[in-house]
Amino acid sequence: MIDKKCKICQDEIDKSSGKFCSNHKLAKSKLQNGYELWLKAYDSLPYDDFLRQLLDLGDLVGALVKDITEFELYFQETK
Ligand SMILES: [Zn+2]
Repeated sequence: MIDKKCKICQDEIDKSSGKFCSNHKLAKSKLQNGYELWLKAYDSLPYDDFLRQLLDLGDLVGALVKDITEFELYFQETK
């Protein structure tokens, strides 16, 4: 059965996303853009390390992005 709720906030899912609501889908794309920027700054940066460093930034990271970051870190199924 296909889950129709956002995996993070249980809100209605964005049809073009398949996993997340429109808010969290946007946050996910921000996260991916951020990772690409950090990859340019560091010679190599494992995705998990990137996620942990983001969480270390605390309030500097928006709540939605933080949701996605924690989700990706603890439930590695969205890659
Ligand atoms: Zn959501």
